[in-house]
Amino acid sequence: MAVYLTNGNYFITHTRTGAIVKVNNIGEAQDFRTVERAMEHKRKHPGKTSGYYYIGTEDNVHTKSAAQVENTFKRKHFSPSDRLQIYRKTKCYCYMCGEFIDYDKFEIEHRIPLAKGGTNDMNNLFCSCHTCNNLKGSIAPADLMEKIKQIHLYQIRKVHGNSIKWKIAYKALEGIL
Ligand SMILES: [Zn+2]
Repeated sequence: MAVYLTNGNYFITHTRTGAIVKVNNIGEAQDFRTVERAMEHKRKHPGKTSGYYYIGTEDNVHTKSAAQVENTFKRKHFSPSDRLQIYRKTKCYCYMCGEFIDYDKFEIEHRIPLAKGGTNDMNNLFCSCHTCNNLKGSIAPADLMEKIKQIHLYQIRKVHGNSIKWKIAYKALEGIL
């Protein structure tokens, strides 16, 4: 994971002489590599990093398109209390497939993607497992089929809940799918 300090417009980096400077090109930004190191840098240089927060990217942003990079940076920093609130919304389960996820493993999913006009408001943010959060990415077809089946069954169960009809249908579907 790459970790940068940004204020949404600029990134923190260092010159060769060690001076802290701000650049607007991600390619020149300093990768702190861990959140801890980014936050330590912020603690050591409060004046120069005032208004800056860390962002983490799952993979190397240099390989992404400009639009994808911009979406990454529109994402705000989620505080631990934001994360906890999102995690609790679905009672620790992935909102897509219904799988239980440990707190340190869950990912924050934008129900309406930022690229499609979604926001960082709480009502657009959900607890998601890694697979569901990356459905658009490269997933082995067999894993994807298994996950889609799981999502399908979970979403139907959410609607039809505890009805006897559904329980019978579920048993049957499990056998078929
Ligand atoms: Zn999931």
